[in-house]
Amino acid sequence: MRIKRVAAVAAVAALALGLTACGDNNGGEGTGSGDKSFTAGTTMEKLNKAQKIKIGTKFDQPGFGQKGLSGKPEGFDVEIAKIIVKELGIPEDKIEWVEAPSKVREDVIVNGTVDLVAATYTINDKRKERIAFAGPYYEAGQNIMVKKDDTTITGPDSFKDGTKKVCSVTGSTPAEEIKKYVKDVGPQLVLFDTYDKCRDALKGGQVDAVTTDNVILLGYIAKDEASFKLAGPNFTKEPYGIGVKKDDADFRSFINDTLDKAVADGSWKKAWDDTAGKFGAELGAAPTINRY
Ligand code: GLU
Repeated sequence: MRIKRVAAVAAVAALALGLTACGDNNGGEGTGSGDKSFTAGTTMEKLNKAQKIKIGTKFDQPGFGQKGLSGKPEGFDVEIAKIIVKELGIPEDKIEWVEAPSKVREDVIVNGTVDLVAATYTINDKRKERIAFAGPYYEAGQNIMVKKDDTTITGPDSFKDGTKKVCSVTGSTPAEEIKKYVKDVGPQLVLFDTYDKCRDALKGGQVDAVTTDNVILLGYIAKDEASFKLAGPNFTKEPYGIGVKKDDADFRSFINDTLDKAVADGSWKKAWDDTAGKFGAELGAAPTINRY
């Protein structure tokens, strides 16, 4: 009798799985997404049916996206992405994390390598020419990291005399912004593809400073307080968005709704407290979502 009932439950479950996977040509192993249903033809429906998603994030930024010992990235961006994935009815272990350094972010969205990017990604008009942003879900600001004992660099104006070298990352907003302050870009601005290389160059004495968002720098400082400090106050505003395909207004709107809900139910704050919040950065009030 008991065996029969177990068999019946298993049969119903199998049927449910079959229905979930219906129309899935991508080989997704549907694990059931019973409580979610999405309008046919939307990205949400496609991802929910496939039961898997590819997400671009950073792998080298403590507090936001850093590959942990598990081999999976950890941080605030990663947690925000997981909140979106949960809302899509996809299990967390079906996320494929793809490293998305600053300069490739638009490309991996446009060419479909990833379904979305969550990677300390400043919303701006130039980027909006190629992709679209949901959010913002956080507002950072550009800052400068120097060696702990440095007293000569106190802000971006300290680069104006042409004597100091500053490191940043290709394709980032801080790399562009700092050009306004250096006397001679060629010798003074050193560019790498990831921020950990800048940190190493600062530690090794090849450059005098690293510039990017305060929260990224605070992550490096938290990991090596004896070596580094911030040189002054923030000097830009960097609102972080989730990058999606330019014409996908439905997906953008779904992510915006999800972010609003995450702020309201406390999961946004919990994501922060569990990650970047441990490194001395301020969460502040939730930024107003820009539904353009
Ligand atoms: N938020 C800035 C940007 O999107 C700097 C951080 C980064 O390079 O990811 O360019």
